[in-house]
This record gives sequence, C-alpha cells and structure tokens, in this order.
Amino acid sequence: MTSLTASHAADLVAALLFILSLAGLSQHRTSRAGVVYGIAGMALALVATVVVAAQSITAGAVALIVLATALGAAMGLWRARRVEMTQMPELIAVLHSFVGLAAVLVGWNSYLEVEAHGTAQTEVGADLLGIHHAEVFIGIFIGAVTFTGSIVAFLKLSARIKSRPLTLPGKNALNVGALAAFVGLTVWFTISPNLPLMIAVTVLALALGWHLVASIGGGDMPVVVSMLNSYSGWAAAAAGFLLDNNLLIVTGALVGSSGAYLSYIMCKAMNRSFLSVIAGGFGIEAPSGAAEEQGEHREVRASEAAELLAQARSVVITPGYGMAVAQAQHPVAELTRRLREQGVEVRFGVHPVAGRLPGHMNVLLAEAKVPYDIVLEMDEINDDLADTSVVLVIGANDTVNPAATDDPASPIAGMPVLRVWEAEQVIVFKRSMASGYAGVQNPLFFRENTSMLFGDAKQSVEDILQALGTDGRRDAAPAARQATQVSH
Ligand code: NDP
Repeated sequence: MTSLTASHAADLVAALLFILSLAGLSQHRTSRAGVVYGIAGMALALVATVVVAAQSITAGAVALIVLATALGAAMGLWRARRVEMTQMPELIAVLHSFVGLAAVLVGWNSYLEVEAHGTAQTEVGADLLGIHHAEVFIGIFIGAVTFTGSIVAFLKLSARIKSRPLTLPGKNALNVGALAAFVGLTVWFTISPNLPLMIAVTVLALALGWHLVASIGGGDMPVVVSMLNSYSGWAAAAAGFLLDNNLLIVTGALVGSSGAYLSYIMCKAMNRSFLSVIAGGFGIEAPSGAAEEQGEHREVRASEAAELLAQARSVVITPGYGMAVAQAQHPVAELTRRLREQGVEVRFGVHPVAGRLPGHMNVLLAEAKVPYDIVLEMDEINDDLADTSVVLVIGANDTVNPAATDDPASPIAGMPVLRVWEAEQVIVFKRSMASGYAGVQNPLFFRENTSMLFGDAKQSVEDILQALGTDGRRDAAPAARQATQVSH
C-alpha cells in the first residue's frame, strides 16, 4: 500500500471519527465518548498530514512542523486546564480567531506561491487558475471576517469592551455594501489578479468582521459565538480546497454545517430571526433612569428566605450566570438535598442560554451531583411555575425577565423566558440591582411577590443552609417575614 492510499484511508477514518464525535457530543450520556473520538480523529489526521508532507519537504521543515505541533499542544493543554467554565465562550472565540487567521495566511501563501512560481511548478493547472483565484479570495474573505469577528466576540464576552451594540449610521447599508464590494472585487481578481486587490479584500473583510460583531448586542452573543463557529468551519474548508486537503474540506464542512445548525436551534430557542441577529440592534442598553421608573424593590435576609423555604410545598431553582461566577452549585445541591429530605419538591428550570454557553448550567449541576431527573428544560417547567410555592432565581437575570413577554418595545421582546413571576414567591439572589448581560432592566425585581437577597450567591445559599439547621427545618421559631421596602 503506498503512503498516499494509506493517507487516504487515514483521512477517511479520521472523518468518520469526527462524525462519531459530533454524534457523541450531542447527548450528555455519550459526551465523554464523543470527546475521545474527536481526540483520536485529530491525532490520526495530524500524523497522516505530517507523514504525507514529509515526502515532499526537507527534514528541517518536518522538524519545524513537529515543533509547532508540540508547542501548540502544550499551550492548548495549559489553557484548557486553567480555563474556568465561565470563560469557556471567550476561549472558544479566541480559537475561532486562530482558524480565521490560518485561513487568511493559507490564502495569501497560496496566492504568492502561484504568483512566484507560475502554474508550471504548482499543482494548479492553467485551466483552473480562475477557480484558484476565486478560492484564494473566498478563503481570505471568510477567514478575515472570522478573525476580527471572533476577536470582537472575545473582547465583549470577557468584558474588555462593552457588550452594547455599535450603531453606526446606515450600518445595514455598510454590511450589504461590503458584501457587494466583495463580489465585485472577486470578479475583478479572477480576471486580473494583483496585489492591491488582495490587500483590498483583506482589509475589507477584516473591517466587515469587526463591524458585524460589534453591531450585535450582548443578548445575541450566544448565537454570534455559534455563528462564528460555523464561519471558522467554512474558512477551514476553503483552506482545504487551497491546500488540496480532503480531510480539511470534510472537517471544515462538518464544523460549518453543525455550527450553522446550532445557530438555527439557538435562534429558535430565543425566538430570533437569524437575519435580525446578523443585522444587530438587539441588546441596546436600557435608557438611564429606567430603574427609577420601576418603583420599589423588597429585600429579604437569608434567615427569612430559609423560613420561607422550610414552609414551602414546592421549590423551583432557576440558575444563571451568577451561580457560575459565585461557584454556588455545591451549596445549591446541598440545599436541594436537605429540602427534598424534608419532603419539599425541588426542581430546576434551565433556560437554553442561561450562563455563557449552551449547557453551562447543566454541566455545573451535574458536577455538583444534582440528580438529572429534577433538572428540567425551560419548556418542561414553565407551565408548572404558577403552581410553585417559591422560585429561587440564583444569579439569573435576562433569562427570567418579564419584559421579554410583556413589553413589545423591550430590546429582548419575544425571547422566551422562564415565567418565574407566576410563582407564589420569588427570591432573587444577586449582588446589586445591576442589569444582566443584555444590559436590559428587569421589572421582575420590582414585582409584589419578588424579594431580593443581596450578596454573593454562594454565601447567601450557605447562610440559608446554616439558618435551616442540620435537620433541614429552621432552628428558630418562625420569624415574621419582614421584607424591607427599599426605594430604587
Ligand atoms: P445574566 O448575565 O443576565 O445575569 C447574571 C446575573 O448574575 C447578573 O445580573 C449579576 O448581578 C449576577 N451575578 C454575577 N455574579 C454574581 C455572584 N457572585 N453572586 C450572585 N449573583 C451574581 O444571566 P442569565 O444566565 O440569566 O442570562 C445569560 C445571558 O448571557 C443572556 O443574556 C444570554 O443571551 C447571554 N449569553 C449566553 C450565552 C450562552 O450560550 N448561554 C453566551 C453568551 C451570552 P449582580 O452583578 O448584581 O450580582
């Protein structure tokens, strides 16, 4: 068997492993196997690529590839071990930017190769030169949009820049204009390829990627991250065409289409149209002074919350990003255990975009060993909330905002939310009256049946546990609930 056919076989097996990996990752139960398939596929692909490359390049170049791979693997391992779950979307955004940058470099390299050596010494036939030029342009365009778009997503997700959307005058016209200019430049380049056009398309795409993501508000960031995931896949596929690497084409197409499908599912879950997300305008910060118009909020102490819970028939916990920040999942699991021991029905309601990445809350709750069967999706729990004694909103904000259903003028209007306000009592665990990720004020905090329990969520839950005592019932005689009225 020649090494070429061996490498084709390796490509095929690696592609199958990637498909198995995606299938495994789609379910909690099989996700570990999915990760193993993915690692195996990538290891096989890397070895096969280096073995094939070694036949046409110098030993020094092979050593360089091995060194770069070892360095990249070491850095990847180091980052993956240190990254907090809350920083995962930022890390993913940075990784997408690498794929975009790689596609741009492959495009430039491929152009310069053909320009420097002509078609005679490259694998590009003269009759295919036009197609090659178009591939170069498309690869650079998708790669550069992915690169700057991912960097802006990283900066927004890590709060290094504001998550509020940039609203340049005529922003939609700017985006459409840039796309039209790209089509025009591509036609021009295939007819008469030259360096200034290469520079023009690179700059245009870098600016478009930056503008596209900068124009999108915080609330739509989950969709943006998954959209960039899709772009990075198409960028890799484009690079695969230029490098004549079938596995890169297949892998890129798998990432591109699964990312696009995930974006579609998320748009459906958030009741957003994909086009409107791309066009931006969602997540404009609440006008200053909106908080004053809301009225008054009530505060509750941990001991009073414990009292309420000890007397509750049923409790629903809706966790959000703040639970992850506070790392409150372990005391929350302990509270759940204690209340259930006392015969209180406790369930969790998880919003599809609670936290900072899909499944974020499920992972934290599983880590704290909360039984799977009491962790329900938003659609499974929403109709039961009206019949619930107490809802504990632990570090969630946008995902429980009634403005999404009540206020058609709200920037998050139409986004499905957990209807926690329908319960008899709601206790919101957070540190201040600050708005959530989308920067939108939350009228829930000012409802008659809502009380705010201010402080770090972990500390607050631990205080409740202490007040509940070891037997799960409150130690002290029931104190009258003295909710403090506070003007806001
Ligand atoms: P939000 O981001 O809306 O709100 C989180 C709340 O947690 C804040 O209001 C904050 O209030 C509070 N908080 C922060 N730290 C602590 C702490 N230590 N203790 C107690 N409370 C704390 O959270 P949600 O989960 O409700 O909504 C997720 C948002 O993130 C949505 O807008 C979603 O679109 C977006 N998003 C989701 C992604 C995903 O895929 N899931 C990815 C990217 C964005 P305070 O500061 O007052 O404490």
